[in-house]
Amino acid sequence: MDILARNRALEEKDHLYLWHPFTQQKDWTARRPVIIEEARGCYLRDIYGRWYLDGVSSLWVNILGHRRREIDDAIRAQLDRVAHSTLLGLANIPSIELGERLVSLSPEGLTRVFYSDNGSTSVEVALKMAYQYWVNRGDRGRTTFLCLNNAYHGDTLGAVSVGGIEIFHETFRPLLFRTYRAPSPYCYRCELGLTPEDCELACLHALDEILKEHAEEVAAVVVEPMVQAAAGMIVFPKGYMRGLYELVKRYGLLLIADEVAVGFGRTGRLFACEHEDVRPDFLCLSKALTGGYLPLAATLTTDEVYSAFLGEIEELKTFFHGHSYTGNPLACAAALATLRTIEREGVLQNVRENSAVLMQWLQEIQALPHVGDARGIGLMAGVELVRDKETKEPYPYGEQMGYQVCYRARQEGLLLRPLGNVVVIMPPLVITREELIRMLDIIHDSIVDVTEKGWRYGYD
Ligand SMILES: *Cc1c(COP(=O)(O)O)cnc(C)c1O
Repeated sequence: MDILARNRALEEKDHLYLWHPFTQQKDWTARRPVIIEEARGCYLRDIYGRWYLDGVSSLWVNILGHRRREIDDAIRAQLDRVAHSTLLGLANIPSIELGERLVSLSPEGLTRVFYSDNGSTSVEVALKMAYQYWVNRGDRGRTTFLCLNNAYHGDTLGAVSVGGIEIFHETFRPLLFRTYRAPSPYCYRCELGLTPEDCELACLHALDEILKEHAEEVAAVVVEPMVQAAAGMIVFPKGYMRGLYELVKRYGLLLIADEVAVGFGRTGRLFACEHEDVRPDFLCLSKALTGGYLPLAATLTTDEVYSAFLGEIEELKTFFHGHSYTGNPLACAAALATLRTIEREGVLQNVRENSAVLMQWLQEIQALPHVGDARGIGLMAGVELVRDKETKEPYPYGEQMGYQVCYRARQEGLLLRPLGNVVVIMPPLVITREELIRMLDIIHDSIVDVTEKGWRYGYD
């Protein structure tokens, strides 16, 4: 079969058989899919031989580029030993080595590693552990959690219960458990109507008020440290994260830090908690953990939590939770190679140096007439497009302005995926300065084309 016929068949069969995540399939099947066949470094190649810069790190996971020799070799070596064996009743070598490594790298006090296979389950594990921690200590009244508006912790129902993104989560509300919700520290659209210059972090005060009233019902406070990523790269104002941590400790509660998006160098520190010296009781990790190679997640916790689960068999203090692929050796081997490479290549240094370029660019792009806000930290950023800059009126959801910009950028060889009206910038952490500048130039021009020159994507 010739290559063109093969490609057309693949496109048809994608439309025929698959259902894509977070995707309106009526829209998807009206346009031809980009089908990726191969990759190298920060670039992906489609079935027609077109190369694209991977501007969102293959959905925030691929921090070291594709086809990394170190990770490829580590997986192959592990494959020659064993691909999978269970952690239920058995142990395996890579999961032990990775556990030790994660404990040594993570914020102080985190001493135990519980594996699962994606970000959502790492949060589910933390929620269930936090609840059962109190139950095992004889406190059965802590049946809820405190979370933030605009939070995103994954798509399983427990994670959705502590989520706060209306368009994703509202449909499922009748199925969810009850939570308390504090304002999101979203300064551009402050829920309290204040400005960062004069607010003195009033949103923390609101959180304090909830805890004053309800702390005894709360098992844990759940937060994405430093950045609410999926809500549109909402970067916390200075001092917010530290202030939240201090409140959690003052009320004697547990803190669940969901670093699924921000962990492993994305913000310029290995973990985002380090920015304001936060020591959570749970640390949820996934996405970049395996360098974007294989699904793996880890929930780290403290001696204090762990020891509450120790007891005689018949006391039933056991944590009755696990997954078929818990501690998968191939994925753990990939994670070990990822951590070694982050260290050996000075990836954090590269993030900090390139971050300076990105932050400067974010300043400049604010001058465009339809850029309401541009914000970021490390090598993660969002450019929020607005219909009216004066009133901050958003573009209607149906106009898909974020997507329009991404489709325009794709024509120039840059792959992006927006969050509503926010253009997301999440390049691999090893991106070179030249690649980053090219990426930012394309984004700038694409925003101008779509918001000022009326460029729109045409259907095939
Ligand atoms: C992506 C993400 C999740 C969910 O991870 P999945 O692997 O998609 O289940 C959870 N929390 C945060 C902060 C995320 O960004």
